[in-house]
Amino acid sequence: MADQICDSCGRECEAVNQDFGYGDYEYGSQRGYDSNVCEVSDCCEADIVPGWARVIRTATHVARKDHAGGRIKAGQKYQVTVTRHVRENGPAWITTRKKLVK
Ligand SMILES: [Zn+2]
Repeated sequence: MADQICDSCGRECEAVNQDFGYGDYEYGSQRGYDSNVCEVSDCCEADIVPGWARVIRTATHVARKDHAGGRIKAGQKYQVTVTRHVRENGPAWITTRKKLVK
């Protein structure tokens, strides 16, 4: 099975079927049910593209100053996770996430 990533956030994802139809409708004397089932990512309901995501580096630091808009304060321990996202035919990019270590 080919790996696949979410086109929105770039993480590996599962495909889910989501109905984007309007549901029940009434038009004049006609009644119907509009259904438009698409396969989308389970995280963002976005397109799924071939590719993969790999964690390339994790490190634990002690913050010397406030980070992440004040979520991580100076002196607190946090973990940095660097992930490389690759679209099969497109550009690769890197995301960095900082998480407090309790
Ligand atoms: Zn996503």
